[in-house]
Amino acid sequence: METYRQLRERLAEINDINRAAGLLNWDLQVNMPPAGAEARAHALGTLSKIAHELHIADETGRLIAAAAAELDGASYDSDEAALIRVTQRDYEQARRLPPEFVAELSRESARAHEVWVKARAENKFAAFAPTLEKMFELARRAAEYLGYTDHPYDALLDQFEPGMKTAQVRAIFDELKQELVPLVRAISARLDRVDDAVLHQEFDEDKQRDFSYEVIQAFGYDFKRGRVDRAVHPFAQNFSINDVRITTRYDRTFLNPALFGTMHETGHALYELGVDPALERTPLASGTSLGVHESQSRLWENIVGRSRAMWTCFYPRLQAVFPAQLGGVGLDTFYRAINTVQPSFIRVEADEVTYSLHIMLRFEIEQELIGGTLKVADLPDVWNARMKAYLGVVPPTDTLGVLQDVHWSSALIGYFATYALGNLISVQLWEKALADAPDIPPQIERGEFGGLREWLRANVHRHGRKYMPDELVRRVTGEGIQSRSYMRYLKTKYGEIYGL
Ligand code: ZN
Repeated sequence: METYRQLRERLAEINDINRAAGLLNWDLQVNMPPAGAEARAHALGTLSKIAHELHIADETGRLIAAAAAELDGASYDSDEAALIRVTQRDYEQARRLPPEFVAELSRESARAHEVWVKARAENKFAAFAPTLEKMFELARRAAEYLGYTDHPYDALLDQFEPGMKTAQVRAIFDELKQELVPLVRAISARLDRVDDAVLHQEFDEDKQRDFSYEVIQAFGYDFKRGRVDRAVHPFAQNFSINDVRITTRYDRTFLNPALFGTMHETGHALYELGVDPALERTPLASGTSLGVHESQSRLWENIVGRSRAMWTCFYPRLQAVFPAQLGGVGLDTFYRAINTVQPSFIRVEADEVTYSLHIMLRFEIEQELIGGTLKVADLPDVWNARMKAYLGVVPPTDTLGVLQDVHWSSALIGYFATYALGNLISVQLWEKALADAPDIPPQIERGEFGGLREWLRANVHRHGRKYMPDELVRRVTGEGIQSRSYMRYLKTKYGEIYGL
């Protein structure tokens, strides 16, 4: 096991450098004065270069091959075999992209980001179009370097959802879309049945903060192993299995951003906090994919956080915190308000029902741009036509339409699908959790979340990156990622709320 030990030590050092870079990034988003940006970009660039060089060095490859030989015959489920498997895959992927290309990509995306910010602010798609062409050209080149057998998009998707194929995701989404579009249409005809005005009142920020802390501590977020700060774009960041931090934001006139945003990031954090401590300082000590990660944030934010069961216990507490605003508002009115469906232009503000349609539109457009069947110049028209077809609304400006997302200018092409996959996985896991532990709902009604959290830890969290996303879902639920569970959940919940 001598070589294996050497490999682990090398990977631990790479991990340490990446965690240090993570801390610089966390600080950049939470504490850093604006003038620190340039120096910080240099420091981050240097650290990621050092980590990358150590990772792709021939010596790393030699250690992986020798350790694999040493461990020949180790069981598939052992930490050792999983470490070799995942490290081998990461190593091969990282070696496929030439360093000059990685540098070009990071230079171009820094530039593209500036162009996008300006074009979005000024509602000028034409000003962003040449840059967008460039970003998709770079993505096509990345796909060629990374390699694929079927569609170049496979290579891009694989960076964010390892092992998933475009055709597989397309089949899942096509099935989902067939049922989701009519459901959105049916709800759209009865939007007046739910009113969320009670959420749009003046809510003191400190009280919002204290209440959201009470909720996430009940979920199991441990302030000895994490902390909560403010950030413009909330995120969760892992420095160690014993230090996973989240950020949130507050709106004095709207309860949702802090309350549900904090629950969302807590879902991400509980995943990282639940990884087996034996995997600390290895590449396995993290979530297995963006999709599975999003399944955890959505599960806590939506399936738990927007359930009647949870608010049976917590609503009287919330009323006590905001007696003037909510004292006269019944539980049922509040429950319906937090589950309002409203087809709208902006993805990040979308509700549970309409969200996945925003994703499908982007998933389709990305493939068409990569495949060359759609021209960048035609993008706004295609975007708006699909918004109309899927959601029944057309954005009045490109700022509220095709220019809204940061992803394409940040070279994150192939990423969007993971959000909708997360929705699907969240319900698949939830159904299985309830089948295994039927007392979870009554526990939640009492404000007890340990049963659910421990089930997730035992079945999902502790494995870290040992299994690929579809493989993990199969191991836990007995089948691959599918849309039936999610549609069943939406139809039951929203059928009741909207009287369908
Ligand atoms: Zn998330």
